[in-house]
Amino acid sequence: MRRLLSILLLLLTLQSAHAEHIRVRLYSNAQITTLNVSFDLGYYNLYADGDQLIEDMVGEGRSVIIRPDGGKLHVSVNEDDYGTFSTLRLEATDTACILCLNPEGQKQRTYEGNLEVSPLKGGKLLLINDVEFETYIAGVVQSEIYGTQSDIFRIQAIISRTWALRNMNKHAADGYNFCDFVHCQAYQNRCIRPDIMMGAIQSSGETLVDSLGALIETPFHSNSGGQTCNSEDVWRAALPYLRSVQDTFSYHMRQSDWVKTISLDRWLNYFAKKHNLDINDSAIRDSLLHFTQEQRRVRLLDIPLTRIRTDFQLKSTFFSVSVDSVTESVILHGHGYGHGVGLSQEGTIRMVGLGYSYDSILRHYYTGAVIHLDPTANHSYVENYAGQLARIIEEDKNKKTQTRSKKDDWLGRLFRLRDREEREEIYIEEQQDNEKDWQYEW
Ligand SMILES: [Zn+2]
Repeated sequence: MRRLLSILLLLLTLQSAHAEHIRVRLYSNAQITTLNVSFDLGYYNLYADGDQLIEDMVGEGRSVIIRPDGGKLHVSVNEDDYGTFSTLRLEATDTACILCLNPEGQKQRTYEGNLEVSPLKGGKLLLINDVEFETYIAGVVQSEIYGTQSDIFRIQAIISRTWALRNMNKHAADGYNFCDFVHCQAYQNRCIRPDIMMGAIQSSGETLVDSLGALIETPFHSNSGGQTCNSEDVWRAALPYLRSVQDTFSYHMRQSDWVKTISLDRWLNYFAKKHNLDINDSAIRDSLLHFTQEQRRVRLLDIPLTRIRTDFQLKSTFFSVSVDSVTESVILHGHGYGHGVGLSQEGTIRMVGLGYSYDSILRHYYTGAVIHLDPTANHSYVENYAGQLARIIEEDKNKKTQTRSKKDDWLGRLFRLRDREEREEIYIEEQQDNEKDWQYEW
């Protein structure tokens, strides 16, 4: 019993530790053969095979090159060869450190936190970003939604945080928490925009829970097309907070409408061959060629629309069919983009623009859900951080052109701001000390 209790306690400790620092696999849908790492901000210590320090204070102007070598890693820094190792860890020496990753054949990306590299079978590399949870959330928000108003980012941060806390062990068997692909949540770069960081920071400690206080599932999609879906109409479980709602906010946005033309033969043969329908039966033929949806439907005849969506790679299941007899084709007129369950991102952007509050928007898309504020979240830290970010955002507004140089990065400026404040504090302390000395001598 006592042993069980200590295991439980250990698990609880691990769980809370996870929420502060997490491990995310990077470039998870690519095959990485060679990696070049350079440094945009701060200094990193290099540890090989666990805790063997092979180089310290590696920063701007230097680059670490890692290549697979017979089941191990070959490591060099600039022109210097450091040998082969089983693992390599690049550890940030400060909270404000930025790594720049250049894997061969892939787009360059930047990340904060630490980087762990290990070999995979077939001469490939496994890259893991060991990063603060909230830094990860801000990166996800930047990858998952567009917009300019901070409430848009706050809402996305709440649903991404809720999802992450609920799915912390998704890749436990692989040795990390999440991948950086849509399988988990997109995390294609660190957050480089101060306004996005601000939205994420403002939502610190906020999650979405049901009436019993349990974290809810928070699926989202680009655009509902005007009506969201019940969860059971797309997946199996009927969840009380994932109900179909009318959503006119999703009209007139980038992904509100779509059109797809398919040849008449291909359309009819698909139902004849894949679903054994008699396409010569006039009633069946009529249903297939003149299917309409004023309100969302779940099936066309007996066939789930989700199946048809997958087979024809349609943007949504919310479409109607008409025939163009001149070109012998069917035209699908569709609404929305994505599975349609939960929050519509473009509907959210519209609602924020119209002045709806972030909590009313979340309640619109997640029926009966409540925002829970974690009482242990460090709010004095958050306020201080948000205050400094607000100064940076204000500074940007007053600038004629938005520069994107390394030195102008919000994290770099935050770092310098903090550094300056720390120096001022030291200066004031020293001054006071001198005064005391002076009084004493006198
Ligand atoms: Zn994943």
